[in-house]
Amino acid sequence: MDYEVIENYELKKHTTFKIGGCAKRAYFPYTIEAFCELLKTLNNPIILGGCSNVLISSDGIDSDVILTTKLNNFEFENNRLYAQCGVKVPMLSKEAEEKSLSGMEFMIGFPGTVGGAVYMNASAHSQYVADTFLECRVFDTEKKEILKLNKEEMKFGYRSSVLQEKPYILLDAKFELRPEEKEQIAAVMQRNLAFRKDRQPNLALPNAGSIFKNPPNDSAGRLLEKAGVKGMKQGGAAVWLGHANFIINEENASSKDVSYLMNKMYNMVKDKYTIRLVPEVKFIGIKSKEEAELWNTMSEK
Ligand SMILES: Cc1cc2nc3c(=O)[nH]c(=O)nc-3n(C[C@H](O)[C@H](O)[C@H](O)COP(=O)(O)OP(=O)(O)OC[C@H]3O[C@@H](n4cnc5c(N)ncnc54)[C@H](O)[C@@H]3O)c2cc1C
Repeated sequence: MDYEVIENYELKKHTTFKIGGCAKRAYFPYTIEAFCELLKTLNNPIILGGCSNVLISSDGIDSDVILTTKLNNFEFENNRLYAQCGVKVPMLSKEAEEKSLSGMEFMIGFPGTVGGAVYMNASAHSQYVADTFLECRVFDTEKKEILKLNKEEMKFGYRSSVLQEKPYILLDAKFELRPEEKEQIAAVMQRNLAFRKDRQPNLALPNAGSIFKNPPNDSAGRLLEKAGVKGMKQGGAAVWLGHANFIINEENASSKDVSYLMNKMYNMVKDKYTIRLVPEVKFIGIKSKEEAELWNTMSEK
């Protein structure tokens, strides 16, 4: 059996928000073959990587969960990089730097995996996953088969990819990097880390990165700050004083606390600017009646 399974797995210990109830069963496949086998046999499992872009319900998840963190092999061949979906992206930044390859510098500062980063087309400092992406293998959970997709077929956009539209689960991906002086790469990574130190909470203050996406030609942080949300609190959750688009879990916050706070932030920007912010963080798991209403409002067009 090339996977581990844990019953009633508490997800709180896995999420960067330190919020989340239990999953009925959590599976940890060790090989891509075992991952595909689980995807074939389990009924609509939820796939999670680094859990750094999710708000998991404090009431838990009423289905099986597959955590990809043990699918962490990667390999360089000349300037190409193959990585399984569970590889942590900051590690790829460092390994690419070692090989004097550029294109992954932006990933040094966030705790995601290749699966989550491709799903979100993660980006920072004007570099996107899509920039170096070459091709990937996905498992089609409807047809129960493996497909190969090229960059065009991935339909990358701002914080979006085809993985958000189709029943595709990323297995592994290939990237094409560019040879560059190691010192130059190291300098860019240092600059990126220094930028984050000032403008983002580190994980000692549990958070899930930016809460809302940037609207076209504007910044969610700017709008939220002008709307006056900084320092607002709900239960154990608070808007970070350093940047208005981050919520931190100050003291045992629940998913309900975060959902209420997000909703207040959303309404304050809507009332002041008639702009409807779109959540970047994904809610996963059982929604209470209140949470369903709060998230429905935030998805109204
Ligand atoms: C401190 C901090 C800073 C951050 N900074 C940035 C930043 O600068 N730029 C940025 O873009 N993001 C940032 N993020 C958000 C987050 O780290 C990225 O979006 C990351 O790529 C998510 O990866 P993950 O593995 O944690 O995904 P998860 O949170 O585990 O999952 C996110 C979504 O991806 C799906 N998913 C995960 N793996 C797979 C797979 N194999 N196949 C299909 N779907 C999958 C999940 O179902 C879920 O819907 C930050 C987060 C934190 C906490």
